[in-house]
Amino acid sequence: MSTTSDTPTYDSLLSGITDPGGREVLDPATGEVVGRVAAAEPLAELLSREQGKPLNGPNARFEVGACAAWLRATAATELPGGTVVDDEDTHAELHYRPVGVVGAIGPWNWPMMITVWQVAPALRMGNTVVVKPSEYTPLSVLALVQVLNGALPADVLTAVAGDREVGARLSGHPGVDKLVFTGSTATGQAIIRSSADTVKRLTLELGGNDAGIVLPDVDPKAIAEGLFWGAFINTGQTCAALKRLYVHTDVYDEVCAALVEVAQAMPMGRGLDEQNVLGPLQNRAQHEVVARLVNAARDAGAKILLGGDPDPDAAGHFYPATIVADVDDANPLVAEEQFGPALPVVRYEDVDQAVAMANRLDVGLGASVWSSDREAARAVAARLEAGTVWINSHGGVHPMIPFGGVKKSGYGLEFGVEGLKAVAVPQVVNG
Ligand code: NAD
Repeated sequence: MSTTSDTPTYDSLLSGITDPGGREVLDPATGEVVGRVAAAEPLAELLSREQGKPLNGPNARFEVGACAAWLRATAATELPGGTVVDDEDTHAELHYRPVGVVGAIGPWNWPMMITVWQVAPALRMGNTVVVKPSEYTPLSVLALVQVLNGALPADVLTAVAGDREVGARLSGHPGVDKLVFTGSTATGQAIIRSSADTVKRLTLELGGNDAGIVLPDVDPKAIAEGLFWGAFINTGQTCAALKRLYVHTDVYDEVCAALVEVAQAMPMGRGLDEQNVLGPLQNRAQHEVVARLVNAARDAGAKILLGGDPDPDAAGHFYPATIVADVDDANPLVAEEQFGPALPVVRYEDVDQAVAMANRLDVGLGASVWSSDREAARAVAARLEAGTVWINSHGGVHPMIPFGGVKKSGYGLEFGVEGLKAVAVPQVVNG
């Protein structure tokens, strides 16, 4: 296939993650440079300070490490194909050419990781990229871009910080050929409108409200930790987190109790303190969304099994890990995306009812089914309207497994071969 020869090589780029841009270590007595810390740890510290996520757990160090792994995997991914018809009359080849300039607009929850998801395949396919980070987390992305630019040719990767106005300008800009957007559904809709005049190609990774269905044959204690991290990774600020859990009535009380036990043991606090694995919400507005939704559940008579009681005088936007039982499926805590550490657990009687509840919303990013019978779980998975359905886990992504939403969670795929195709234009050469 084409493009591979004229795309940057990434070996140097990867060394950029660990070598150039690292922090100098000074001798405290003389002030002389005596060494250098690789970029990864300073990047993780900056991410923790700005985004709020702890260094430890599946958080800041994990995110920076995943950036390096993703770059490596994307660099090694080849686009298959070439000749599509070759007979006596016809010889036709399909090539993937660079699109040109790719605009990448990102959110504040996994700012570095999502930037790499957007940037790595676009560069791999021979495009140049203009990154517009979220106004809530610009520094993390600017620092990452600086490290990458320590190894890339000049002017291939550019970052433009700014608010939604800058995003809107980028999505209407005639010099941008393709836009990769990750963020809310409302912004995705605005981008569709503002990109219409230039007929920009779009990949839209939008909001979700992922359902998990727990079948009656599970061992509640065995699945509790997986359920917890599925819902509470990055303190719930994750697009494909488990955001509403449907549990069969036979195991409902045991699953709730096991979840509470796991959640109680997870330390929440300042990100730079090594013991913490849960952090604050990144901004006040998100804290207010979570508080409003938990209050709506409480007011409707739901049972708050854990949390739901943020300290109004505490510094930072901490909202405690919250588990809400006996909540109605129509309650706003279930129906709206909370994007924070509050999980509603809804009781169901039969699997048809659970599938109907899982499918009733207009978003479909991820979903999961939990069972000790894999085939039974896969049969339920096939009925769910979601871009990815995990079995006995939730939210794991892999650089070679395509990822994308259905319904109002967006369109287009990222990762793997499909992700490369998404930042290229196909061209047929016939003859
Ligand atoms: P957001 O939509 O408010 O902002 C995302 C980005 O869009 C920011 O950089 C912002 O400046 C920019 N923006 C805002 N208005 C714009 C406009 N009119 N034109 C162009 N750009 C504009 O989203 P957020 O609050 O930062 O992120 C949270 C949301 O993102 C959640 O809904 C979450 O589910 C979703 N998300 C989805 C995925 C996924 O892969 N599907 C991943 C992460 C987050």
